[in-house]
Amino acid sequence: MTKVIWAPWRMEYILSEKPGECILCLDRDETNDRKRLIVYRSSRSFVMLNRYPYNNGHLMIAPFTHCANIEDLDPETSLDMFGLVQKAIRIMKECLQPEGFNIGINLGRVGGAGVEEHLHIHIVPRWNGDTNFMAVISDVRVMPEHLEDSYNKLRPYFQELDS
Ligand SMILES: [Zn+2]
Repeated sequence: MTKVIWAPWRMEYILSEKPGECILCLDRDETNDRKRLIVYRSSRSFVMLNRYPYNNGHLMIAPFTHCANIEDLDPETSLDMFGLVQKAIRIMKECLQPEGFNIGINLGRVGGAGVEEHLHIHIVPRWNGDTNFMAVISDVRVMPEHLEDSYNKLRPYFQELDS
């Protein structure tokens, strides 16, 4: 039996790929943060929704510095990133009510890194019976919620961090 699953983000991915441009290197201009799916900036790192998510609310935390190796991260940035992981988890628990999480860093192409030259931490919320297994078996994902909805849900919680 062949199952056809509508996966528009795969096409978006193919069409938007620009080789040589690091999508995790940000400038100071925050006017395009919504378009770039950046939900929060701290002093040394930022939180961004993954455009090709494994699940609804899939976030990435990356340093402002372009850095491929985890062992090269300075202590302040490491601490800042881990602080953001904790804040993101707290917010996702409140806002999305997941039943679990996967937190991980893929290093190197063979380790599954999509952007291997700029390290980032993945946070994937998990629900009982979610469809994440599909990514493992066939690189096909079922995403019931649009990215923009996830952004609109999470953004106000992150904005509250600064107030
Ligand atoms: Zn970069």
